[in-house]
Amino acid sequence: MKAKLILIISICLIIYSCKVENKSMEEKLLTPFELNENTTASYDEIINYYQQLAQRNKFITIEEAGTTDVGKPLHLVKISNQKHSENKVTLFINNGIHPGEPCGIDASMMFVRDITESDSLRFFLENIDIILIPVYNVGGILNRGSYSRANQNGPQSYGFRGNAKNLDLNRDFIKADSKNAQSFQKIFTKYNPQIMVDTHTSNGADYQYTMTLIATQKDKLTPSQKRLLEESMLPFLYKSMEDVGYGMTPYVNANGTPDTGIYGFLDSPRYSSGFAALHHCVSFMPETHMLKPFKDRVLSTYQFMMSILDYTHQHAEEIIDSQREAIEYYSQLEEAPIDWKLNQSLVDSLVFKGYEAKYKKSEVSSDLRLYYDRNEAFARDIPYYNAYDVAQTVRIPKAYYIPQAYDAVIERLKNNGVQLERIEKDTQMRGSYSYISSYEDLPAYEGHYLHRKIMIDQKVSEKVFYAGDYKINTNQRARRFIIETLEPNAPDSYFAWNFFDGILMQKEYFSDYVFEDLAAGLLAENTELKQRYHEAIMQNPELDTNAAMALDWIYKQSVYFEPSYKQYPIWRKF
Ligand SMILES: [Zn+2]
Repeated sequence: MKAKLILIISICLIIYSCKVENKSMEEKLLTPFELNENTTASYDEIINYYQQLAQRNKFITIEEAGTTDVGKPLHLVKISNQKHSENKVTLFINNGIHPGEPCGIDASMMFVRDITESDSLRFFLENIDIILIPVYNVGGILNRGSYSRANQNGPQSYGFRGNAKNLDLNRDFIKADSKNAQSFQKIFTKYNPQIMVDTHTSNGADYQYTMTLIATQKDKLTPSQKRLLEESMLPFLYKSMEDVGYGMTPYVNANGTPDTGIYGFLDSPRYSSGFAALHHCVSFMPETHMLKPFKDRVLSTYQFMMSILDYTHQHAEEIIDSQREAIEYYSQLEEAPIDWKLNQSLVDSLVFKGYEAKYKKSEVSSDLRLYYDRNEAFARDIPYYNAYDVAQTVRIPKAYYIPQAYDAVIERLKNNGVQLERIEKDTQMRGSYSYISSYEDLPAYEGHYLHRKIMIDQKVSEKVFYAGDYKINTNQRARRFIIETLEPNAPDSYFAWNFFDGILMQKEYFSDYVFEDLAAGLLAENTELKQRYHEAIMQNPELDTNAAMALDWIYKQSVYFEPSYKQYPIWRKF
């Protein structure tokens, strides 16, 4: 038995050393894109490719790190020199969230090969570990066709934006309706990266750039990370891309044509970069331009990854320190911002290389149509709006209490690394809660009717929490995630995403002909109530002439009215 084991181990060692020796002599493993520049790899080709790389290269491992809605695994590729160090940055790269925008998928395949197999690039791994999702939307990439990106210039065929549940995974980072997102959250909070890159292709206006960039909205970051992003990372990345011939512009988010100005994107937590910000990770979404040839889109994305790697290698300590400071800073906050709004009066400017926007008669309708005249390229200053002010803050409690009934929320909190304690015995708790005073609904949106413009009243009351319900101390690493998902009026809270909709419907009511007598009795025996009723009639005389309205008013002031209606069930303890 023992001899057999030794034999197996020696064979493994021989195979391993042969692999290492032969690798440099082996041919470079080419990607489908490198064999045909208008091709993006299929799901099987991608996984196969990384498996082959991992077999011949000790710096790469590939594993199944969770499941996806289509029933196939979510693969994770790890690139590391396997040397543990406190001073290593974890760089997280996500590809194929929108498989119709696949340049990052193909760029990553070459990138991973080159940084591990090229002797002149491997030094990057001295202080960087890379965690890479080769393709996130597995259901989407399997749904391959040539038409869903109507205006895109290649590749010849590609996957679809919706996943197996027809969800846009780049709106799913909080609600996590997809198994993809649930797996993603566990992976993300297991590795806690300092930097994330999520690769895309843009739509919209025509201009000269192949590459545009969305970075985390700087004003949502804590001071240390905001400073690093604005003063160090972005200048480096823009210059580095310019140097390799892929000069970038901020993502062209315009009201009309870009020459009238572009707007910084507010990446709320439903988006990848907004989600990452809740975990104090700075993100970059390279968005290549749909009208540029696929080859240029892949190569510019490749260069962008190299630039990120270069920056990270040179500034690893600052990156690690700024995340540490961010976590520390946030742990000291007594009041936290939960929403932001654009400051229209703070206008910056940037030099933009565009094409003149013009109008001519449409050949489809009798209307005029827009076109960008590629014969009239320009480079001029345009307005750049990228200042966001805090629109809303909340006082941070010491703890939240959440009933176990809300298991879908609890599961998502756990997936995000939130530490929860179970309450040991039934406890009457006095604390602060939110009464939902008003809200609006968005029409059907990503499997939900998202609540927005949520107004709350803070109230204090008693509530029984039962054995097995949960207490969440806010004094923990996931503090920001906890606050921006549990405070109901935060734009991407679990309340906004319909996880608490049971409270929005009244369960009991009254029979008016019976309640008449009861209501008369209530007014007769309670002079304070009677006084308020008269004041209400002064405000709204219809109360006096409309019996149903009058009874409803009195019912809602009475003990008969259910307190749970619009009562957000999470209690705060300050
Ligand atoms: Zn996209």
